Amino acid sequence: MATIIIHSNTLNFEQSKTLERKFGKLSAVHNHYRAEVETAPTHEQLVQLRQELELDINVLPANFDSKTVKLVISDMDSTLISIECVDEIADFINVKPQVAAITEAAMRGELNFEESLTERVSLLKGLETNALQHVYDERLTLNPGAETWIEGLKEQGIKFALVSGGFTFFTQRLQERLGIDFTRANVLEIEGHQLSGRVVGDIVGAQAKADFLIELCDQMEILMSQTIAVGDGANDLMMMKEAGLSVAYHAKPTVQEQADTALNYRGLDAILDFIA
Ligand SMILES: [Mg+2]
Repeated sequence: MATIIIHSNTLNFEQSKTLERKFGKLSAVHNHYRAEVETAPTHEQLVQLRQELELDINVLPANFDSKTVKLVISDMDSTLISIECVDEIADFINVKPQVAAITEAAMRGELNFEESLTERVSLLKGLETNALQHVYDERLTLNPGAETWIEGLKEQGIKFALVSGGFTFFTQRLQERLGIDFTRANVLEIEGHQLSGRVVGDIVGAQAKADFLIELCDQMEILMSQTIAVGDGANDLMMMKEAGLSVAYHAKPTVQEQADTALNYRGLDAILDFIA
C-alpha cells in the first residue's frame, strides 16, 4: 500500500475524475486529499500527472512515519525566502549579472558550491555593510505560506532549523522574526564598515548542511528518519538524502529528480500536509 497526497483542498471536475480513475476513492484530510493505492505510480507517471492537472501530487515514502517527525530543516535562499541574497547584495556594486550567473550554475549542480561561493563573495569586496540591511529591508520576502508553515510546526512541537549557504546576517534576522529554533550559515568578514570579500571559517556548503542535520539529530537524540529536509538547489541534496523525507520546493530539475517529493504549485504551508 502507498499513500498519495494531493496538496489541494479544492479539486475541479476534471481533476477529481482523473485522480479517482487513477487512485480510486479520495478522502479529505485537513487541507488536502489523500488516496491509498496498492501500487505507487512511477516517478514519470507522477511528473506527467502533476503537469496535466497542475497540482502538487506526492507519494509518501513507505518507510516514512509522519507521526514521529521531530525536526524540519530548510534551506533559506529560494526556499524559505524568494531571493538569492548574494545576488541582491551584488546589485549594490553592480556585479549582479556576474554573481547571479555563478549562483545559477552552482544551484544546477554544475559548479562546486564552496568554490563558487568564494568567487562570489570576492566580488563583493569593498561593499559598505549597510547594503546588507537594505537587502533585508527592501528585497527579502518570505515565500508564500512560510509563516503558516512554521507556526503549524510549532503547534505540533516540531523544531525548525534554517541552514544556508548564504549568510548569518540574514539567518539571524529571520530567526528572531519567525522564532526559528536553530540556524547555520556563512559569516561574511567585515573590515571597518566594508566587506573584505572573504568568509570567516569554513564554508557552509552541501556537506556542512548535511552535517548540521546529523548534529541536530544527535543533540535532540532523535533518528534521521524523524526529520524532513526542504530545499531547491543542488547543494541541498546531501542534506535531503539524510532526512526521513525530502521535499524539493520549486526546485531545480536535478533536485526534483532526486527528492522523495516535490512542490511546484503550492506554497511552503503545503509541507504540513505530510505530517497531518
Ligand atoms: Mg536555495
